[in-house]
Amino acid sequence: MANNISLEAILSKNDKLPTLPGIAIKILEAVQRPNPDLQEIAEILASDPPLSAEVLKLINSPFFGLSRKVTSVFHAVSMLGMNVIKNIALSFALVKEFSKNGQGDFDYPNFWKYSLTTAIAARKTAERVHRDGAEDAFFVGLLHDMGTITLARCMPDQYQLVINDSQHGKSDNHHIEKQIFGFDHMDVGRHLIRSWGLPSKFWQPIGCHHSPHHLSKDDSESHVIAQILHLATLYADFDQIDNAPTQLAMIDHFLKDYGYDNKIEADKLALEVWEEAKRFFPYFEIEFENDTGYLETLEKARAELINVSADFIDQLVAQQSQISNLRQQATHDGMTKLMNYQYFQETLNREMARSRRSQAPLTLVMADLDHFKSVNDTYGHLAGDQAIKSVASCLQANLRETDHTARYGGEEFAMILYNVTAEEALTTMERVRQAVSEFPIRYDDNTFNITMSFGIASLADETMDRECFIDSADKALYDAKASGRNCCRIF
Ligand code: GH3
Ligand code: MG
Ligand code: MG
Repeated sequence: MANNISLEAILSKNDKLPTLPGIAIKILEAVQRPNPDLQEIAEILASDPPLSAEVLKLINSPFFGLSRKVTSVFHAVSMLGMNVIKNIALSFALVKEFSKNGQGDFDYPNFWKYSLTTAIAARKTAERVHRDGAEDAFFVGLLHDMGTITLARCMPDQYQLVINDSQHGKSDNHHIEKQIFGFDHMDVGRHLIRSWGLPSKFWQPIGCHHSPHHLSKDDSESHVIAQILHLATLYADFDQIDNAPTQLAMIDHFLKDYGYDNKIEADKLALEVWEEAKRFFPYFEIEFENDTGYLETLEKARAELINVSADFIDQLVAQQSQISNLRQQATHDGMTKLMNYQYFQETLNREMARSRRSQAPLTLVMADLDHFKSVNDTYGHLAGDQAIKSVASCLQANLRETDHTARYGGEEFAMILYNVTAEEALTTMERVRQAVSEFPIRYDDNTFNITMSFGIASLADETMDRECFIDSADKALYDAKASGRNCCRIF
């Protein structure tokens, strides 16, 4: 069962793929315009009377504690701001759209309870550490697990295996998903939210919400939102897991790690999230059971932690958070974050089997930097390292997310392109070759360019094994080097 399905296959299953409700698309489009028009947003909302009624009901509830009754959506938008109204409207629209049972055992009410709690926790966290991003934080909290819904809808049978394993407490869901599918709900969520045309400050954090350290610190806005979202999921998990003291220790740990511990009191925030969720849920017809449970769990967990030595807590947290680090380290290259040699070989095996099963073409590209020794000699080894990193990001930026890119060796790269013929790969690689050659590499005071040669081979009949496949691409690469470098050749 493991690794039989590709992310690409899931994303092309269009009939089951979650799409945003029409009204949500219109609201999002209107809000994202350079000069959003309040009147327009109000009109869109008013065109859906049941939805506007729900929004107005919530706004006039004690939840908002407004002194005057708000009677029209236009009034609501101008009073609370369009981002607040956007999030309320989207919450109602999404919960309504994705709450149909009868698709396997997927527990939609619990899903939304968890996502809404995450959204609330994200907004509360952001209010303390990134005030301007508070509504964005709510939004990513609301959408962060859409990848899970996608998997459950598109692959109900396989997703049932994830649910079973998770109920047996085998591991975190995203680790189980990786084992069963070869990717997890974060990967799916990233693709989905991106395909909805939303900006990277939303899909990047959603794509790494359990491990925000995988996101480059260069993209500071996404990085901050990713950290906020990660903390919010820890808060939302709080009453769903058995081991509350460990969870609280994790929250303490990451508050410190992200440098938020001077702005956020862990327990106070937890209580606020719980209080707000309690008031928020009824409007979404979500039951709030166990009225004292959360409070008691929190107090007990804190009391237990006080009796445990700080060293022990550190060990515990380190263990938990290192599991995902270890997996990443075992399969990816530390310098470029690309797949490493070993994982590339496994992936190639898998893709060869898939290609033969489905009769889809498979193309392998081997690429090597030109005259790289002289780059090292001229600018130094560290400048050479910088060049390798730049080329890696250049390759990724120019390939589909579903292509596999690996660091094969020192300055050699390999790419696996599924459902692509050698001729199609040639067109793509020509574009990549050009992009690499034009990419300015900056190190210290120097800026320079490098070029790269590419060898392309497609998988032939059953007699071609993995070594032979790699060898064919290598021969084409040799041919490219012999033809003067900075070019692509097909085997
Ligand atoms: P060609 O065009 O024929 O490929 O010429 P070349 O100079 O690139 O030759 P070759 O591929 O044989 O040499 C690769 C060089 O890349 C040798 C090695 O010192 C350097 N190299 C390999 N890995 C790294 C690395 O991680 N960092 C740096 N800075 N250099 C590396
Ligand atoms: Mg070279
Ligand atoms: Mg080489």
